[in-house]
Amino acid sequence: MKFETVIGLEVHVELSTQTKLFCSCKNSFGANPNTLVCPVCLGMPGVLPVVNKEAIEKHIMAALAVGCRIPEHSKFDRKNYFYPDMPKNFQTSQYDLPLALGGSLEINLPDGEKKVIGITRIHLEEDTGKSKHAGETGSIVESDYTLLDYNRAGVPLLEIVSEPDMRTPEEAYQYLNELKKILVWLGVSDCKMEQGSLRCDANISIRPEGQEEFGVKAEIKNMNSFRSVRSALLYEEKRQREVIESGGRIIQETRGWEEDRGITVSMRSKEEAHDYRYFPEPDLPPMVVDKEWIERAKQKLPELPGERKLRFAAEYGLPEYDSGILNLSRSISDFFEEAAKLSGDPKQTSNWLMGDILKYLNQNELEIHETRLKPEALAEMINLIKKDVISGKIGKDLIEELLKNGGNPEEIVEKRGWKQISSGDDLLPVIKQVVDDNPKVLTQYLEGKESVKGFFVGQVMKKTAGKANPALVGKMMDEELERRKNNR
Ligand SMILES: [Zn+2]
Repeated sequence: MKFETVIGLEVHVELSTQTKLFCSCKNSFGANPNTLVCPVCLGMPGVLPVVNKEAIEKHIMAALAVGCRIPEHSKFDRKNYFYPDMPKNFQTSQYDLPLALGGSLEINLPDGEKKVIGITRIHLEEDTGKSKHAGETGSIVESDYTLLDYNRAGVPLLEIVSEPDMRTPEEAYQYLNELKKILVWLGVSDCKMEQGSLRCDANISIRPEGQEEFGVKAEIKNMNSFRSVRSALLYEEKRQREVIESGGRIIQETRGWEEDRGITVSMRSKEEAHDYRYFPEPDLPPMVVDKEWIERAKQKLPELPGERKLRFAAEYGLPEYDSGILNLSRSISDFFEEAAKLSGDPKQTSNWLMGDILKYLNQNELEIHETRLKPEALAEMINLIKKDVISGKIGKDLIEELLKNGGNPEEIVEKRGWKQISSGDDLLPVIKQVVDDNPKVLTQYLEGKESVKGFFVGQVMKKTAGKANPALVGKMMDEELERRKNNR
């Protein structure tokens, strides 16, 4: 039987606000356990929450960027459950009236096609504390004891729920990448999965091809990278198919991904919404986001990657390919724009960024703002090459120096003696020397094998440590070889 896979994702993203959602504790990662806490986020009796306006604004920005609508009225609800990671015994979340509804995200598929994935809703809630299962086993299912850190309790968290529109694990992977790109671009979250500021649960079910009704789904948790999400879904897709094909039945449950073993294991049967006994949070009034507020948020929204990609192509005459690469991250995109304006040569700026610079960033796992290179320096370097002060080959050494140590390109060129040799008087002795040193190659040339000229030019470049002006060397080499031919 042929099966179709149905995947929906729930993505949790911590907002990068100054303070937590309902109190003034600092929202930050990496502090000593239980140092960023107060009576409010520890859920002491009698405390009252106050909503953080910055969190609402960042939520609205994220929602608008993925085309959600912001209902005028929304409210917070209590999601009741007992886990030690939330000392109040409930989590303040949003149930039936979330802050944002009905958006979408366009993803790129490996075959070059595009697909639109629906976003059902985005709601705002407080994050829970962190449990660390410790002891000998350290496993998620059983552990000797558990340590609790409430620094994270109360950090503002977006829950972005997709429609069950994805049909392959690869589509889920692409969706996550696209979502992260936009959220980081907006500056609402750093989306660092390794620090837990982006987390993803995946719902997956399979159904016979052509069947309208969804199959029974499993929810997969504990994946700590986008690659793990893809692997876990691939595993689960296969597992469910095998269960059905062998006459079994899928049960609705939560399963945990065990990275080391490459399998999912049953954790518990899945809760239904009514298990949480949601009710409106009595300590917070319903929220009203009026049209003016939404309008103001729209004004603050930066130019988004898709729009900027089109503008770069139109304004700087860049090929669509270049424009796409430059707009994979906001930092590269901003850097390009500044450097292109200063250099007056957008295409060369793009070439350096997409070539040597991106290669360096990837190799060293850095963002461009984490290097010492400045847009002014890249622009100046491009102009040094255009004015024949340095060769393109030296440019490669110079860019690496600028990325590592920064500085002023002209001063570095001066200090390192990297100036291009563009004087015929300086080059002629080297050219003569190279020809004299390679009599066999010269003979080949004289016998008609003109392609060996490339070898001679290469030798001159080598002898001058890449500093010779290649065009001039080519021209002078022609003259020199011509002379040898005539003097035979
Ligand atoms: Zn607090």
